[in-house]
Amino acid sequence: MPILLKNQTSAQLHATLAHAGVSPHLARRLLAASVKRGELPALGSDLTARLRDDLRALTEIPHLTQVQKVVSPQDGFTKYLFQGQGTGQFEAVRIPLLHRPDDLKYVACVSSQVGCAMGCVFCATGRMGFGRNLAAWEIVDQVVKMQADSPHPIRGVVFMGMGEPLLNYDAVMTAIQVLSEPCGMAIAAKAITLSTVGIIPGIRRFTAERHPARLVVSLTSADPLQRRELLPV
Ligand code: SF4
Repeated sequence: MPILLKNQTSAQLHATLAHAGVSPHLARRLLAASVKRGELPALGSDLTARLRDDLRALTEIPHLTQVQKVVSPQDGFTKYLFQGQGTGQFEAVRIPLLHRPDDLKYVACVSSQVGCAMGCVFCATGRMGFGRNLAAWEIVDQVVKMQADSPHPIRGVVFMGMGEPLLNYDAVMTAIQVLSEPCGMAIAAKAITLSTVGIIPGIRRFTAERHPARLVVSLTSADPLQRRELLPV
């Protein structure tokens, strides 16, 4: 199995590829080139032609396929439908924040799963049932593809698309690190927000591990009985 770039942090890439001669600096260049240009980095003092040939054999740069793009004429929100390497399709939304002429930017709303097992009664994704967890690169590449399609930078990410992010914990945390690394998408971790329907073990783990991203709990209703009717979890 090839090592998928965009699917690991630079530190993980170094640990995985050190045996081939990849230094921590080259691991950062590998992540940057795969995320920003979809290719291996240029030759340099840390990357000989021979090592690059080895990396071509050892690694793969995966890409999502964009299936559909719909722009709202009312507010400019743009919905993308993607296909990854597994079954099922999933959505992401580019949210425009264009009210300050000196700070034109977007927030990306991404999916963490295909479908969702949580069954919230008001949610179309919940009615689909659970399909599969997305890989970290499939989360990262939603932002990469939307950025490539955008005239202004994506400065924030919210996990409010399809799926419950705390039920795909490891891939989501890896994706957050890749999105926030300076050699990744360089999006400030405090501008990345997970939204959970209330997965208590995941909330405990997230807070115990002191991740720098933000966590919001979707209450939907402050009345416990009504909440239980709307959110079976
Ligand atoms: S957790 Fe989110 S995606 Fe899943 S069913 Fe509830 S609202 Fe929908």
